[in-house]
Amino acid sequence: MYGSSIHAALQHYFEQLLASAERPDLDGLLDVFQETWRACDKPIQYGKREDFDFYCRLADRTLWAFLEGGWAYPEGQIVGVEEELRAPIIPGCPDILGRIDLLVDRGDALELRDFKTARSSWNDEHVAEAAPQLWLYAELVRPFAGGRPVKLAFAVLTKTQSPTFTLHAVADDARQIARTKRIAQRVWRAIEAGHFYPNPTAANCSTCPYRKPCQAWTG
Ligand code: SF4
Repeated sequence: MYGSSIHAALQHYFEQLLASAERPDLDGLLDVFQETWRACDKPIQYGKREDFDFYCRLADRTLWAFLEGGWAYPEGQIVGVEEELRAPIIPGCPDILGRIDLLVDRGDALELRDFKTARSSWNDEHVAEAAPQLWLYAELVRPFAGGRPVKLAFAVLTKTQSPTFTLHAVADDARQIARTKRIAQRVWRAIEAGHFYPNPTAANCSTCPYRKPCQAWTG
C-alpha cells in the first residue's frame, strides 16, 4: 500500500507539471498519499511498530527528499504521465499493454522512466532481472520517438529510514529486445497448448494469489 500511495503522489506531481499547473508542494503530495491510503478497501497488514502514522512520517521524509532532488525536475518536456499504450508488438501474441509512468521529450531523445518502490537499493542484478519490462515498453513508445533514441530508466526509491532515489539506466538493446520477444512467444505458445505446472520460487509463492489452488493441484 505504501508503494502505490507514493506512486499516486508522484503521478499527481507530474500530472500537474504536464498540465503546466502550479508545482505541488509537500503538503499537497502528502494529501494525495493519505487519500490514496485511506481509499484502500483491503485490510492492511502492518509490521511490528508500524501503523498509518508511521507510514505518513516515512512518506513525509520520502516526498521531501523527492522534491529536494533532481528527480522532480526532469530535463525536457513532459509528454506523458501514467500513459497506457497497447500494441501488437510480438508476432503471434496478444497485444502488449504498458503503463508508462513518465515520458519526457528531451529533444534529442524520448526518455521513459518507470518508478519502483523498494525495501533497499537495487543492484545491477536486480536491474537486469527487471529490464525486460522496459525493453517491451521501449517497443511501445518507439513509434512516437520519430526515429530518435529511446532512453530507458528505472527510478528506484527506497522506503528506508533515509529514503534514497536512484536512476538506473537500461540500454535500449535490440538483441535483448528480440530475445525478450522470443521468450514471450514461447510462453504464449505454452499457454495456448495448456502447459500449466507449478513453478515454485521462494520470492513469488509467498505473495501469490493462486497459492491455494496451486497447492491443491495434483497433476
Ligand atoms: S504458488 Fe503461485 S507462484 Fe508459486 S508455483 Fe504456485 S502458481 Fe506459481
